[in-house]
Amino acid sequence: MSIVANSAVATEIGDLPDSSKPAQIPVMVPWLGDEEAQAAAAAVRSGWVAQGPRVAEFERAFAAQVGAAHGVAVSSGTTALHLGLVVLGVEPGDDVVVPSLSFIATANVARYVGANPVFADVDPRTGNLTPETIQAALTPRTRAVILVHQGGVPADLEPIRALCRDRDVALLEDAACAAGAVYRGKPVGAGAQAAAWSFHPRKLLTTGEGGMVTTDDAEWAARMRRLREHGMNVSAADRHASAKPVLEAYLETGFNYRMTDIQAAVGLVQLGKLAATVSERRELAARYQRELAGVPGLTTVADPSYGRTNYQSFWVRLADGFPVSRDDLLARLAEAGVSARRGIMAAHLEPAYADAPAPPLPATEALSLNSLILPVFHGMTVAQQDRVLAVLKAAARG
Ligand SMILES: *Cc1c(COP(=O)(O)O)cnc(C)c1O
Repeated sequence: MSIVANSAVATEIGDLPDSSKPAQIPVMVPWLGDEEAQAAAAAVRSGWVAQGPRVAEFERAFAAQVGAAHGVAVSSGTTALHLGLVVLGVEPGDDVVVPSLSFIATANVARYVGANPVFADVDPRTGNLTPETIQAALTPRTRAVILVHQGGVPADLEPIRALCRDRDVALLEDAACAAGAVYRGKPVGAGAQAAAWSFHPRKLLTTGEGGMVTTDDAEWAARMRRLREHGMNVSAADRHASAKPVLEAYLETGFNYRMTDIQAAVGLVQLGKLAATVSERRELAARYQRELAGVPGLTTVADPSYGRTNYQSFWVRLADGFPVSRDDLLARLAEAGVSARRGIMAAHLEPAYADAPAPPLPATEALSLNSLILPVFHGMTVAQQDRVLAVLKAAARG
């Protein structure tokens, strides 16, 4: 059984059922079922609902899956990025290079630590930063780069890691979208200084809200464990488990960024489904790609030469001169009962960043303004996909 209707998620994604219209095709639905419901119920029945043994188990399992030594679970992808910047040593007045083409949290977290986000452009095919675009945004004050694996498309890590090493700049990977994506045969996350993950329902693996930082650095992991729990030197779980009274100390100003054991219980089930989720999405993406290959004026996202995307976001880009504008195409899809989304946002175009330094970002603007994200979800049928394709093919004819 799949739990879809009436959940908060369905509301947020905008696909509440309406019996007067043909069934709406959602852009994304979390793949949740009885197993997750039972795991959450077991956590509730156990009496341990805050951060505890299930969080620790989820951290170990997730870190192992992405090839990192440590996982630190937190309350969201955004708080994961925030803690990542703290342990990488980013301080007030530093510059942090970020892509504008990303969910706005990527830029916001630089400001959380008092640093200045400096926007860099992206490769128009992958939507990701490149060594060249990063180089163009470096300043004498650059302390870190936040590298997003946008929509699940892996960025070209090796040359970017080399550049950051040479310039003595820290590299935080925003892998919020990238669970199950592969770079040169290894999972995204393997070998990262620090990578931040999101378990929001819009991502492939969800805990409702939630996130994680993975790293190979034991000291950073220990510090993030303290920071997520008010800066305490002993976790609440360890204090409870101890037979003797334990007096805690607060070593630095921390946060409450904990994940609950209810969420981690769901996350463990979701992690077991990740490989199946990715392969189903890759099959659906391959069919879109085959069907759209001959349609003039449309380019689809694809695997880069060096890796494999998880197709968290399947985007198509309209060429200049495509007979229908992006926004009109979204309207046509909506009329046909298809829920699609505008392409990935560009933070530098938002009022919150009107005063942030940005070199010209032509690839970012073209991709953000001329692309849209098509429905891909667990259980999507050929008939549903055909309905989406029919609208796109008709639009290409005018
Ligand atoms: C979703 C997302 C985030 C934020 O994750 P939350 O869990 O929603 O806080 C950050 N960066 C990128 C690229 C994302 O897609």
